[in-house]
Amino acid sequence: MVKKLPEASDSEPIMKACFKRILVTGGAGFLGSHLCDRLVEQGHDVICLDNFFTSQKNTIEHLLNRPNFELLRHDITRDIWLEVDEIYNLACPASPVHYQYNPIKTTKVSVVGAINMLGMAKRTGAKIFQASTSEVYGDPEIHPQPESYRGNVNPIGVRSCYDEGKRCAETLFFDYHRSNGVNIRVVRIFNTYGPRMHPYDGRVVSNFIVQALKGENLTIYGDGSQTRSFCYVDDLINGFLALMDGPDSFPGPCNIGNPGEFTVQELAELVVEMTGTGSEIIYMPLPADDPTQRKPDITLAKEKLGWEPEIPLRQGLEKTIDYFKSVDLDSFRQPTSHTAHKSTEMEKGVS
Ligand code: NAD
Ligand code: UDP
Repeated sequence: MVKKLPEASDSEPIMKACFKRILVTGGAGFLGSHLCDRLVEQGHDVICLDNFFTSQKNTIEHLLNRPNFELLRHDITRDIWLEVDEIYNLACPASPVHYQYNPIKTTKVSVVGAINMLGMAKRTGAKIFQASTSEVYGDPEIHPQPESYRGNVNPIGVRSCYDEGKRCAETLFFDYHRSNGVNIRVVRIFNTYGPRMHPYDGRVVSNFIVQALKGENLTIYGDGSQTRSFCYVDDLINGFLALMDGPDSFPGPCNIGNPGEFTVQELAELVVEMTGTGSEIIYMPLPADDPTQRKPDITLAKEKLGWEPEIPLRQGLEKTIDYFKSVDLDSFRQPTSHTAHKSTEMEKGVS
């Protein structure tokens, strides 16, 4: 029997239910791999593109035999020709130690990479999502940070390659939207943690947990009074999907993060308590331009997307500690030998 075709007025919901061809750049990274999981589970045809600078195949190896998952080794600073319906642009080193390792490349990934992906979106008519960051607020003078805050970024410091690169990417997204009608979404991500963070990624949550599990000293940079607001990865991915599938009239920028604010000292003490480690907490110099405070104002996400985080820090840390206990820490290659203090020392002329 031939199925009756839908009436024209019925076609929109049917289109929405259709599976899409979705490109995830940086798809093998920490956040990208969780996003690929969700999109593959939803039945979409997912292309994961990555150059494996800060990741390894083990984050996505469980997806490799899925018929609706495809892996491409490619660098987004180079042109690529694909036919897709949606693009999530996540490719970029996210940890300060790795984005400062080759700062010029970091700016290129953010800017040239965004131009390449926006060009693809313009050609194919794909909707495109940009993983921006709370770093666009720099060392914020307004607390918590709403999207309307224009930030306090040092344009020539050691973090600028990332901060200004991401700010320029936001500019490009909105100019492609205004000038070419590209359908965009821009999310500003606040510190996110969870399983599949690279153990030698250099970010604070993975550093503290791995140090605690190995019985090494937990390294606090500065006096530990600086604050961050930590979001569990599952909450963040819910926010990504809510923004991408939300109304075109709300392209963002939209803060996604957990407003629960902790000092780095509090985080270190919590990790020591939860892992039961005998490790000591030690203090090292604060790297240049390290923001003193950070907390998202998520009013917009709540109002426009009905999104808010559900997983408190202790619960998320439990899952993350279990993850790091379950992996062979020696099977990971350190992405770079860069340290949090190298760029600062070079800036001061210390060798
Ligand atoms: P990650 O380092 O784990 O993942 C980034 C991925 O991009 C890696 O797999 C890396 O190999 C890949 N990549 C880097 N340069 C590339 C290039 N030139 N071409 C192709 N692939 C490339 O970091 P993450 O935490 O998953 O972050 C993902 C995105 O989210 C980044 O754009 C980051 O700036 C943004 N973000 C993350 C956080 C966070 O807390 N995790 C906060 C703010 C913003
Ligand atoms: N930090 C720390 N010890 C570490 C790693 C980081 O004290 O081993 C501090 C870092 O100086 C910053 C905060 O923890 O103040 C968060 O650092 P991270 O690199 O995770 O992300 P950022 O928010 O700085 O991009």
